[in-house]
Amino acid sequence: MHGRKRRIGRREEAFNWVYPLKFKPVYKEMIWGGRALESLFGRKLPSSRIGESWELCTHPQGMSCINNGIWQGKTLQEVIEQQPETILGKAYAGQAQFPLLIKYIDANDHLSIQVHPGDEYARRVEGERGKTEAWYVVDAGPGAEIIYGLSDTVTREIFSQAVASGAVEPVLRRVAVCPGDLILVPAGTVHSLLKGVVVCEVQQSSDLTYRIHDFNRTGPDGKPRALHIEKALEVISFGEQPPLNFTQDSITCSYFSVRKWQVKPLVRDYSGGHFLVYCILQGSGQVVGNGVSTPVQAGETVLVPACLESVEIMGELHLLRIQ
Ligand SMILES: [Zn+2]
Repeated sequence: MHGRKRRIGRREEAFNWVYPLKFKPVYKEMIWGGRALESLFGRKLPSSRIGESWELCTHPQGMSCINNGIWQGKTLQEVIEQQPETILGKAYAGQAQFPLLIKYIDANDHLSIQVHPGDEYARRVEGERGKTEAWYVVDAGPGAEIIYGLSDTVTREIFSQAVASGAVEPVLRRVAVCPGDLILVPAGTVHSLLKGVVVCEVQQSSDLTYRIHDFNRTGPDGKPRALHIEKALEVISFGEQPPLNFTQDSITCSYFSVRKWQVKPLVRDYSGGHFLVYCILQGSGQVVGNGVSTPVQAGETVLVPACLESVEIMGELHLLRIQ
C-alpha cells in the first residue's frame, strides 16, 4: 500500500507542475532568407538573412528550449525524457523525441527545388524519418508562387532528361498562393517556396532534403550547393500529383492534423490525451491550463502537454491548431 501511495503522489506532483509551454526560437541563416519575421511578428533577428525559425523541435539540428514557467531553460527533450506520456500522450510511451518539427520559413528569395523521401526510403537509406510537410501561407506578395508537383504527363524519363539538360523549370507545376492558403506536401512531391512567400511549416521531425535545382546560385562558401539528383529520382512521385485545394480549413495526414482557428472571445479545447500545439498567427490572448494562464501573442508557439485534458483559449486570436 505504501508503495502505491507514493507512486500516485509522484504522479500528482508531476501533474501539478505541468503547464502550457512556450519556446525560444532557433534561427537558421539561409542564402535565401530575409527579415520578414521582424516585420510580421516584431522579432529581434540575429542576422539579416534568417530563412527559418524553428519553433518547436527536438532534432539534432535544432532543439527547443522552454521559455516560460518553472521549466524555463530546460530543453523540450529533457522534459519529454522525464515524462514522455505526460507531454506527448499514451500513444508515444517510450518515445524521447517530439514527432513534429514546426517552423516559420521566410523565402526572401527562391528556395531550391527539392523533394523529401517517405518513411520507408528514409529509414532504409538514411536512418531517419521521412518528411511529409504542410504549409500555412502567412504572407505572400502580389504574384507570389510556389512549385507544387510536376506538370501533367511528366514521366521519370522526361523529368530526368529535363534535369540533365538544365531545363527543369518547364516540367514543374507553378501555382499562385495567397495568405491563408493551407497546403499538404506529401513526401515525394517536388516543391519549392518561391520569392516573397512566408509560411508556417508543420512537418515530420526530419531534415532530409534532396535538392534538384538551385537556380545556379552559390552557397556562403562561393561554391554551388550540393544537388542530390539520383536520390531525388528514387523518391519523386511521378503520376497523379496532389490536388490544388489550397483554400481548405484543415489538413489531416498520417502524421499530423492542422486546422485554422479563430478565437473570440473564448474557446475550450480538448486534447483527447494527445499533445496540442497552437501557432499564434494574429492577435493576443491567453492559454489557460491546469490553473496556469500563459499569455500568448502573434508569432508565438504553445505546446499543451497531453496530460492537460482541456485548456481555455481567451482573447482575439487567429491560430493554427496542430495535433
Ligand atoms: Zn520541403
